Amino acid sequence: MGQKGTKDKITPRRRFFTNLAHNVGLGAMGVLLWAGYTSKAKSSPLTLRPPAALPESDFLKTCIKCGLCAEACYNRPQNLDKEGNKLTPGTLKMAKAQDDVTIGTPFFIPRDVPCYMCEDIPCVPACPSGALDIKKVTNEKGELDIRLMKMGVAVVDVSSCIAFWGLQCDACYRACPLLDEAIKLVYDRNSRTGKHAFLKPVVNVDVCTGCGLCEKACVTEKPAIFVLPTDVALGKVGDHYVKGWDKADQQRVKDVDINSVTTQTERSKKKAEDYLNSGNLLEY
Ligand code: SF4
Ligand code: SF4
Ligand code: SF4
Repeated sequence: MGQKGTKDKITPRRRFFTNLAHNVGLGAMGVLLWAGYTSKAKSSPLTLRPPAALPESDFLKTCIKCGLCAEACYNRPQNLDKEGNKLTPGTLKMAKAQDDVTIGTPFFIPRDVPCYMCEDIPCVPACPSGALDIKKVTNEKGELDIRLMKMGVAVVDVSSCIAFWGLQCDACYRACPLLDEAIKLVYDRNSRTGKHAFLKPVVNVDVCTGCGLCEKACVTEKPAIFVLPTDVALGKVGDHYVKGWDKADQQRVKDVDINSVTTQTERSKKKAEDYLNSGNLLEY
C-alpha cells in the first residue's frame, strides 16, 4: 500500500515535466503539420499576381500579406448583404487554404474577375513592402503608365478558338483595352469553303499586359484565349542568336570578333568531299 501510494503520488516537479513533455510533443506535431500544410500551400506556377509584382520568388520573400493592394483596388468586392457577406468578388483575392496559392498572398483569376487596367493603378502605390514595384510601371517622364505592366500574356488555343474554325467571333478583340494593338485580327483565306475568310486573333506579346479581359470575354465554354504567367507562356531565345536588323540587339556583340569564334569537333575537321565519298555515312 505504502509503496503504491508513493508510486501514484504526483509531485509538482513531476507534473511540471509531464506537462512540458506533453506540450513539446504537441508543439512538435504542430510544427510538422504546419510544415506539411505550408509546403502544400505553395503557389501553382500558373498563379497570376497583381500589376508590377516582383518575380515570383522575390515576391514571396517581400510580400507581407497585408492585403492593402486588394483593399486599394478600384474593383474590390462590393455589395454586402445583410450579414455583411461580399456578393460581388473583386479582382484581387488574398489566398486562402483551399487556393492553390501561397496563403495570404494576392492573386487574380481572369475568368472570374479580370484586372481592369486602371489608369492610375491604385493597387501598386498602396503596397508598403515593394512586392509591387512602382518602378516597373513608371515611364521615362516619371508618370504611372498602365501599359508598362506585365501580369502575364494571353495565349490562344487555336484548336478551340472558333475564329480559327471560320466562324465570326471577335469577342476577345473587342474586350481588349489595347484595341488592335495587343490583339490583332489577321485575315486568312478559308480554303475549306473557298469563298469565306478567317479573321484570326493573334496576340502581340510585347504589348499584352495580361489583364485577362479577353479571357473573361471569350465565348467558348472553357476560354480559348487565356492568360499565363509570362515565363510559362513564352520561350527564351538565349544569347546565341542576334537580330541582324536590330541595332540594340547588335550592341550585345559589338566587341566580339566573329572570326575569333570557331567551334572545332573531330567531324568538323573533315571536308564535305570526305563525307560524300565515304560510302558509309554512319562513320560521319
Ligand atoms: S489595375 Fe485596377 S483593377 Fe487591376 S488590380 Fe490594380 S486597381 Fe485592381
Ligand atoms: S500590398 Fe504589397 S505587401 Fe501587402 S499584400 Fe499586397 S503585394 Fe503583399
Ligand atoms: S490580356 Fe487580353 S485583353 Fe488584356 S491586353 Fe492582353 S490581349 Fe488584351
